[in-house]
This record gives sequence, C-alpha cells and structure tokens, in this order.
Amino acid sequence: MTNDTDLAPKVLGHLEKKLNQIISVAPGVIFQFQIDANGEVSFPFASPRLLDDSTSSAAVPPESAKDVFKLIHADDIERVEDSIVTSKVKSLPWQCDFRVHHSGRVKWVRGRANQEQGPNNSTVWNGMLLDITDLKTAQLKLEESERRLHEAQELASIGNWYAKMETGEVYWSDVVFKIFGLEQAHTSPSIELVNRHIHPEDIELLRESEERAKELGKIDIEYRIVRPDGTIGWVHSIGELNLLNGTYHGTIQDITERKLAERELRELATTDPLTKLYNRRFFVERAESTIKLCDRLEKPIAVVMFDLDRFKVVNDTYGHATGDIVLQEIAREVKAQLRSEDVLGRIGGEEFAITLPDTTLLQGVKVAEKLRQKIEEMEFECTVTNERFKLTCSFGVTESQTKHEKLDKLLSLADNALYAAKRNGRNRVETKV
Ligand code: GH3
Ligand code: MG
Ligand code: MG
Repeated sequence: MTNDTDLAPKVLGHLEKKLNQIISVAPGVIFQFQIDANGEVSFPFASPRLLDDSTSSAAVPPESAKDVFKLIHADDIERVEDSIVTSKVKSLPWQCDFRVHHSGRVKWVRGRANQEQGPNNSTVWNGMLLDITDLKTAQLKLEESERRLHEAQELASIGNWYAKMETGEVYWSDVVFKIFGLEQAHTSPSIELVNRHIHPEDIELLRESEERAKELGKIDIEYRIVRPDGTIGWVHSIGELNLLNGTYHGTIQDITERKLAERELRELATTDPLTKLYNRRFFVERAESTIKLCDRLEKPIAVVMFDLDRFKVVNDTYGHATGDIVLQEIAREVKAQLRSEDVLGRIGGEEFAITLPDTTLLQGVKVAEKLRQKIEEMEFECTVTNERFKLTCSFGVTESQTKHEKLDKLLSLADNALYAAKRNGRNRVETKV
C-alpha cells in the first residue's frame, strides 16, 4: 500500500527528470531570476549551461548569482542592469540583447523573460537566453557593408533604386533623394515623380529609352533633371530588368560636374575666348561640312572674309583694351545679322570669315554690303578717355561655282578679294571667283 506522502517525492522526482530532459534539448538557457525585497539577487532555477557548458546543476547556488552577472561583457552590463530595472519598475516583460563571456568565447545572447510577483515581496522573472551570435555577427556584417556602401555612394554621388513595373512601387536609396533635391521624409518615390523632374527637352529621350528597355531589358541613359529649387542637374542611370520578378533595379549617378567640365572643354576647343565666335579650327570643321551639304543639295555657297580697317591705329590711339572691346562688339553685331545656318568664325587677330549656304555671289555681296554699313554706323568708346570713335571694315566675297570646291580655295579667293578691297581704298566689298 502506498499513501499520498510516499507518492509525492516520486512524482516530483519524475517531473524533475522530465524537465531536465526537456531543458537539455531546449535551444538556449532557461532560468528563473529573483530580486528579493532587500535587493538580493538569485537564480532559483537555471539550465545547467547558464554559467558554462560544463555546469551540471539546475540551480545556481546563491553565492554564484553574482558570478552570472560577471559573465556579461563590460560594455553591455549597464544596459542589461537598466533593462532589468525598467522591466521591474514598469512591470513589463524583460528583453535585452547583450554579449557574455561563455565557455572561453564572447557570445551574443537574446534575453526574454516574463515578470511576476514572487514570495516575500520579491520579483521573479521566468525566461530564456538564446545564443544569437551567428545572427548578430551576420547582422553586424550586413550593417557594416551597408554603411560602407552608403559611404561609397555618397562619395561617388551614386544612388540605387528599383521599380516594380506591375505595382509601380519604387525604392530609392538616400543618395537618390539628394540627387533629385527632394527631402526623404516628405517624399514617396514613384515613376511619376521621376517623370515630373525630367528636363522638358529630355522627356522624349527617356521615352525612347523606356521603349528600348522593354525590348532589351536594359537601361543606360544620361538625362537632365530639374530640381524643386530650379537648378538643373545631369544624371546617368543604368538599370536591368529581373525577369523572375518583373523588377528593374539599377543605379543613378549625379554627373553634373562631369557634364559641365565637358561643356567647358568643348567650348575651349571650339570657341575664341574673346569674341565667343568659333575659332579658326572649328570654323574650318563646320564650314567644310556646310560646303559638303550644299554640294549634295546642289546649292550655291558664298564665302565672305572681312578685316578691320587700320585697326593698328585704334590700338595705338585708344589702347589694346579698347581694341578688344571693338572686336567683341563687331563680332556680336555681325552674328546678330546672320541666319542660324551661316557659320561665322574669327580666323585671325582681326580677321573674320563667314560661309553662307544656299547663297549666290550676288546675294553674298548684298549680305557683305549690309554688314559693312552696319559696322560703319557703329560707334565705339575709349575705355580710358571715353572718347568716341568710328571704324570700318573691308570685305571680300567669293562663291563656290563648281562642285567640290575646297574651303581652302574659297578662303584664298575671298582673301584675294579682301586684299583688293584694301587696295581700292578700304570700307568696301570686292569679289573674286
Ligand atoms: P589694314 O586696314 O591694312 O587691315 O590695317 P590694320 O592696322 O588693321 O592691319 P595690321 O595687320 O597692320 O594690324 C592688325 C592689328 O590688329 C595689329 C594687332 O595688334 C591688332 N590685333 C590683332 N589681334 C588683336 C586682339 O585680339 N586685340 C587687339 N586689341 N588688337 C589685335
Ligand atoms: Mg586690319
Ligand atoms: Mg589683318
């Protein structure tokens, strides 16, 4: 015969054995933590592995409770203690991720525990510590690589984006907001938003790129954007379609500085810095292609050359700076009198040349005569004495009579005519064919 008092230790022993079996296979460490009314801490119950992997007792002796806290990494101990205090004061579940020294290694653990009132005004937490070292290491690595990527993107002004065609959902990294001059907090990116910021002259370009992207699954385009503050920027966008999920993903880079530098270089290479007209080299390039076009279309072409009369006297009398202004003003006036298809260049110090497509010799002479008169009517002012003075120019005109007439030949004929104009008294137009 067995009575209840004989049964109790047997059942308890059986339950404890079962519990230890479960604990031994449970991931992490199970514990009961207690703070007495007088502030004493203890672990009435804990998985054997709480202190280290070899500990076999299920309860941490009261004298070792403080040793458990010694295992916590010095940089994290304050945070752990604060989290326990917060949990106690606010009667909230305890949670904290922190590092511990465990079995000779530093490990990351995630602590979670529910709190309840214990005996004698104590507070008791029943909870668990999970080893999250692998997770945390991967997370820290990811954060580090994201930080590096972000830094690299900031340095290179490159942002990344993706767009889901089906839903219209768009993601922008921080730098994309910066490139578009938009505040991240108040902007939800969309394809429509991008379209709204495209420079009007580049909308067609982008539309064509979208059509190509549908065919090839690739985007590679440079276009201008207009930011909310009105400034214009250049961007280079590269993207690729992921056929598996119908998402475009790519990068966008601010290339404004490069574009401005390119434009400056192009200007330096093609224009004369004083008058902003084409320099000799670029005039020749443009004039030659104009001649080729006229040949193909079987149209005549007139070539005009002009040179300032007695310009040396202007320099000597009013100074070189005034001479420079005279050159600039004459260049501006002549340019204003010509059509957009006419090519005007400064080919020497005070010598200019013009090609007039679809123009006969007679029409060319008329143009030259108009220019001669306009310049004759102009008045200039000395930068030092404010003295006013006038100046004239001499013109030589020729025409391409036969096909494939070379520019060299035409310039030489026009120069001969100009020389004749000088010889015949200046401020006049002469021709030579
Ligand atoms: P002509 O009527 O025979 O053409 O007489 P000219 O004095 O104009 O001709 P010349 O060739 O003897 O002198 C041209 C002058 O143009 C000499 C030169 O100092 C001046 N010149 C050339 N380039 C520039 C320039 O960029 N700025 C200024 N201020 N003068 C220039
Ligand atoms: Mg001259
Ligand atoms: Mg000259």
